[in-house]
Amino acid sequence: MKTPVTVLGLGAMGTALARAFLAAGHPTTVWNRTPGRSPELDDLGATRATSVAEAVQAAPLVIACLLDYASVHTTLAPLDADTSLLRGKILVNLTNGTPAQARSTGEWAQRHGAQYLDGGIMAVPAMIGGPAAFVLYSGAPDAFERHQTTLAAIAKTTYVGSDPGLAALHDLALLSGMYGMFGGAAQALALVSSEKVSPTAFTAGLLIPWLTAMLGSITGIANDLEYGAEPGAAGSNLAMQAIGFVNLLDASVAQGVDPALLVPMGELLDRAVAEGHGDEDLAVTVRLLQEANQQA
Ligand code: NDP
Repeated sequence: MKTPVTVLGLGAMGTALARAFLAAGHPTTVWNRTPGRSPELDDLGATRATSVAEAVQAAPLVIACLLDYASVHTTLAPLDADTSLLRGKILVNLTNGTPAQARSTGEWAQRHGAQYLDGGIMAVPAMIGGPAAFVLYSGAPDAFERHQTTLAAIAKTTYVGSDPGLAALHDLALLSGMYGMFGGAAQALALVSSEKVSPTAFTAGLLIPWLTAMLGSITGIANDLEYGAEPGAAGSNLAMQAIGFVNLLDASVAQGVDPALLVPMGELLDRAVAEGHGDEDLAVTVRLLQEANQQA
């Protein structure tokens, strides 16, 4: 028999996870705060638990996918009354949160005698069970190894380290990159739409090819960070970029488009130049962001 699994939380994501476990043949017990949610799971063979205590007792592998960590702790609180309920289990928390939240939830699980894996789902619900989805995991290495095959029913698995906070760190870093891209695309589309340029033609013909061509620069930034930049190697020095960047701000204002998303990037470039990095390239901005963090 395949490993039984419990899923706590039947929102859009929890429901997709339960469906994928059921499709892969895992006996699946589900629990949700609001009873009766996602009734289609009943036809697929899910077992509904009427309490969290009953749900966690049904399987060695307990997956939590709730709105946020506050709802995770509210959901798990009844288990504090009997610390034997989670003993020997593996709690896999796929709720989005911060590294600190992941670490403290890991400590909570440890106090209950459970092993803890934290996860970051890099997919939307429709992608779960499909080839493009992946989930980042961190925490108990042996628990991951033992249940990797079961976890692969929902998505490709990527283990990033034994510190439970590392999955959240990687997840939030990837989302930071994603939102930077979305913010840039929103600015670009607002700018061209101010002159009635077709957003779809602009996106397909220019924006996506341009962003795709620029992706290689990110590898260059990472290489500089890790190995150090070769002196004088910057093909696009920051002093030049800072001067050109002012045109982005001025043109946005002139076209009636709010430049608010761009302003902090312009300030970072200006700071880099003011601090003597005008002949270097964008890897400097990463270091300046890290310094700001160290000063905070
Ligand atoms: P939904 O809003 O669809 O579902 C939220 C779930 O949390 C429901 O099961 C809800 O129960 C439960 N919940 C909310 N508050 C509480 C509470 N106080 N106590 C107990 N249960 C509570 O969210 P998703 O399923 O989409 O997301 C779940 C997690 O997955 C989030 O952390 C999200 O960031 C992450 N995620 C989601 C993605 C997505 O595209 N959907 C992508 C990647 C990650 P009830 O039915 O009773 O309201």
